[in-house]
Amino acid sequence: MFAQSAFRTRCASWLSAIGVLLLLGGCGKEPSTLERVQAEGVLRVVTRNSPATYFQDRNGEAGFEFQLVKRFADDLGVELKIETADNLDELFASLGRPSGPVLAAAGLTASDGRRASARFSRPYLQVTPQVVYRNGEQRPSRPQDLIGKRILVLKGSSHAEQLAALKAELPELSYEESAAVEVVDLLRMVDEGQIDLTLVDSNELAMNQVYFPKVRTAFDLGDALDLGWAVAPGEDDSLLEEVNAFLERAQQNGSLKRLTERYYGHVDVLGYVGAYAFAKHLQQRLPRYEKHFRAAAQAQGVDWRLLAAMGYQESLWQPSATSKTGVRGLMMLTLNTAQAMGVSNRLDPKQSIDGGAKYIAQIKQQLPESIQEPDRTWFALAAYNVGGGHLEDARKLTQAEGLDPNKWLDVQKILPRLAQKQWYSKTRYGYARGGEPVHFVRNIRRYYDILTWVTQPQLEGTQVAANNLHTPGINKTPPEQDLPPL
Ligand code: GLU
Repeated sequence: MFAQSAFRTRCASWLSAIGVLLLLGGCGKEPSTLERVQAEGVLRVVTRNSPATYFQDRNGEAGFEFQLVKRFADDLGVELKIETADNLDELFASLGRPSGPVLAAAGLTASDGRRASARFSRPYLQVTPQVVYRNGEQRPSRPQDLIGKRILVLKGSSHAEQLAALKAELPELSYEESAAVEVVDLLRMVDEGQIDLTLVDSNELAMNQVYFPKVRTAFDLGDALDLGWAVAPGEDDSLLEEVNAFLERAQQNGSLKRLTERYYGHVDVLGYVGAYAFAKHLQQRLPRYEKHFRAAAQAQGVDWRLLAAMGYQESLWQPSATSKTGVRGLMMLTLNTAQAMGVSNRLDPKQSIDGGAKYIAQIKQQLPESIQEPDRTWFALAAYNVGGGHLEDARKLTQAEGLDPNKWLDVQKILPRLAQKQWYSKTRYGYARGGEPVHFVRNIRRYYDILTWVTQPQLEGTQVAANNLHTPGINKTPPEQDLPPL
């Protein structure tokens, strides 16, 4: 009896001691990473400065990773602070540092070899590692063909990891890694014949190919792999759980898809021939009209690069362009539009550009309030091409399908129906070549993206032509002597 009650008393005091300890522990408990981020009101993120991830454009910070992580920070209600790492090793090292970045969003492959240096979120994109060679050289078609070639990849990259694994099977394989280059440099080096091959992710290749007309895909090295955001290996789960919930939401509500489409969705439009021609015209033709585009853009409150992209789509920057349908000049205005815009001579490049600028600004203004940027710009371009009435028809059909009439991604799916009787017979304005505005917008976005990249603030001050088109990563491109000997 006594023993039992003594036991009970002892138990009770142990329990209360444990309770106090737990309580004390609770009080003095380190805040979780998420709590720290929320308390500081700042989310510090590390990334890479590259066109596929993060760069400066006309409005400041841009890029797929930036856009996505900015939304995450907004959801958390905190400020976003971006840091760029010089190379991948430094990026992972920075993650563990006290008061360093807590999250990496940098097109990182969630590879097995990285388990010790990071923990990854759920995937937000699948990409395929691709072997890249120079047009005119013999095309490698399988891993054995890599033997004897000069191959360079990013140091610490998933591609270096893949090549190391391949070397275990093919001991004669040799390759180099460099921490002094970015993907754009690797592609440039292939383009210029400084190296034979490199290995890059399909999304990065697709985005950059236009700058490097000689670069070709040889073959896919393995299956598609997941890209994820990363936290330091010792990090608690709080931030990663929040990231995963955010990415799941972004996937479900379509915003991830829209962003992917925005950055990577229109990259195959030009093809090799088009890419080469654009590169040439960018240097030879655009400088003659750049000042007109800038002036007209300023007068109408639109981006000059958008006007320039439109001009390229319309006439390849040729002021005397004419078409059988009666449209003329650099911006290919119809006679009616030209008159309405006060253009007396459509073949005068300055007048044509001014008229086109005025017209697109007017169209944009007339669009329904419910269409927000950046979609608003794409809708304005579509209306410029196919006319506001047809666009309105397509928006109604879009709504009837249960899709969003204010999202370009949805409306562009429906527009081609305007060329099919079963659909256009039900519309107010009837038949239209609905596929055309889709191509029109896609091409212009493509040119616009390229112009945006080559005229980043870092590169501004000089005319576009003065910039070396083959070094779009100019702010990042190291001098040649920093590269490893090959
Ligand atoms: N996904 C690659 C990595 O995680 C980087 C991007 C690239 O090299 O294309 O290392």
